[in-house]
Amino acid sequence: MLRLFAFLALCALAQCCPTILTKSQWGGRAPTCRTAMATPVTYVVIHHTAGAACSSQSTCITQAKNIQNMHINTNGWCDIGYSFLVGGDGSIFEGRGWTSVGAHAPNYNSNSIGISLIGTFTSSNPTTAAQNAAKNLISCGVTRGYIKSAYILKGHRNVTATECPGNTFYNTVKTWPRFQA
Ligand SMILES: [Zn+2]
Repeated sequence: MLRLFAFLALCALAQCCPTILTKSQWGGRAPTCRTAMATPVTYVVIHHTAGAACSSQSTCITQAKNIQNMHINTNGWCDIGYSFLVGGDGSIFEGRGWTSVGAHAPNYNSNSIGISLIGTFTSSNPTTAAQNAAKNLISCGVTRGYIKSAYILKGHRNVTATECPGNTFYNTVKTWPRFQA
């Protein structure tokens, strides 16, 4: 009992958060512009990157850099569109982070955290490590006050005409806490 209490107290102090590699830690580019986002947000929107999967931190970093370059150079955005990326090894990469408006889900960008799992999940699921990392990241956001405790979880396809986050993964996301189509 004491141990449980100690854990909870510690957890509150440490905010129960998984390791998040900051932009500078993974070698991402600084944003070219930024709009601050009011928090806590109401929505969490789940994506897949619709590209290659990755299973190590170094290969996931390569993917993160490619995606950021595409979003900045090709799409002309200020930064990578997502708030966070999650790799197949469970690594979490800071994109726009908790407090910047993203570019991942029109009409929801200023009131959501967008989490994208690296890979294409139309006919397979992300790894358990990646799924757990995403769920822990959401809990972390709630604990830290960036996401409302009564948040609503959505797949990208619930808010935009897209097949994102892939059929198989979408069916899994539907079983996650607080999902609402
Ligand atoms: Zn998406």
